[in-house]
Amino acid sequence: MTRFRAIQVNKTDSGQEVAFVDLTESDLMDGDVTVAVEHSTVNYKDGLAVTGKGPIIRKFPLIPGIDFAGTVASSSNAEWKPGDRVVLNGWGVGETHHGGYAGLARVPGDWLVRVPEPMTTADAMAIGTAGYTAMLCVMALEHEGVKPSDGDVLVTGAAGGVGSIAIAVLAKLGFKVVASTGRLEESDYLKGLGAASVIDRKEFDTPVKPLARARWAAAVDAVGSVTLANVLSQTNPEGTVAACGLAQGMDLPTSVAPFILRGVKLIGVNSVTCPKARRIEAWRRLSVDLDLAKLRGLSRHVKLDDVPRIAADIVAGRIRGRVVVDL
Ligand code: NDP
Repeated sequence: MTRFRAIQVNKTDSGQEVAFVDLTESDLMDGDVTVAVEHSTVNYKDGLAVTGKGPIIRKFPLIPGIDFAGTVASSSNAEWKPGDRVVLNGWGVGETHHGGYAGLARVPGDWLVRVPEPMTTADAMAIGTAGYTAMLCVMALEHEGVKPSDGDVLVTGAAGGVGSIAIAVLAKLGFKVVASTGRLEESDYLKGLGAASVIDRKEFDTPVKPLARARWAAAVDAVGSVTLANVLSQTNPEGTVAACGLAQGMDLPTSVAPFILRGVKLIGVNSVTCPKARRIEAWRRLSVDLDLAKLRGLSRHVKLDDVPRIAADIVAGRIRGRVVVDL
């Protein structure tokens, strides 16, 4: 029986503890496809899960890691055969089902998406759930008819994972992107991704007016809370905001004014249980609308042993771009 190394989170009297363990296939949960995991990543949610700063893990002991990419090792699912290159995002993996911080993963085949050419499995995890969610946000804006000629598109949490990839994709699609960050020292990095200009996130951390000067044709928001409320107040008539994150907070202290006086549309983006057709389309779009050279430039590689440290850093807002975990 194949042995593999994994991170395991155990429940303790005072909360939870992280252990590095050797497991066998019999330790895995149910599923009809077993995947040799080649890469995982550290998303913000993984940071909360591994540090225990958020109630992400709801079954113990659990292998964390909300996403992974690798090669099918064995399958009794008609859609998948050994050797297929696959990626998984969400479905409770790393929350209630063993996740990506392990040499092997077993899951229902319905949860998997094929890694599109010319992406490698490392590219798929440089994108990860953060980048995949950024693409879902861009698709949500397009679905509402947002076009480059409409005006400036704001991206909040710009230097983070969702933000970095949203900027790269939007810029490649011809949008004029304004990046909002608390790390102005990362301005060159953000412009390198394609941001036309960079602004201080403090501009969005002010008391919220029902309506403010309209400046944004659209926005991708990874931050939530007062920031999202201010973005809504500043969105142009008929503009669209795609909201996916809560890096600042889960609250939303807004009013109905942007919606009823400007027709602003607020679209929620949920990557975890996104319908299969949209998942496949998002990964296809990432393979054509994201410059892989730029992607490789915004990501770095770490080992499984580094995950607890990176998890603490991402929760503290100290990670730039994306971190790939090599299994
Ligand atoms: P990162 O930590 O990589 O990026 C978040 C960024 O938000 C930071 O880099 C920082 O950007 C900004 N930020 C952090 N703290 C604050 C604060 N207090 N006030 C204002 N801005 C802040 O995380 P990800 O990009 O991986 O994820 C971003 C968010 O999206 C998270 O909340 C995550 O949970 C959510 N998410 C949701 C998904 C879904 O399915 N809906 C899927 C994936 C992610 P800067 O330094 O540039 O200011």
